[in-house]
Amino acid sequence: MANAADLASELIEEREAANEEVIAALRRQFESESETHCADCDDEIPERRRALGGITRCVDCQGIFEARGR
Ligand SMILES: [Zn+2]
Repeated sequence: MANAADLASELIEEREAANEEVIAALRRQFESESETHCADCDDEIPERRRALGGITRCVDCQGIFEARGR
């Protein structure tokens, strides 16, 4: 039977592996070009936001998009 410390370290390792996947996905996204205009409402996306890379929506629409995704 595994003890609590073993279980805890296993959980932490799983979580770190998941984090690495998320970070890699974010990196791929941010390496791509941003759109100049929002994909949903066609508003211009501010330069400061586009500088992040991989941006396709304005702040408002991204918020709605992420809320819908849940
Ligand atoms: Zn928008």
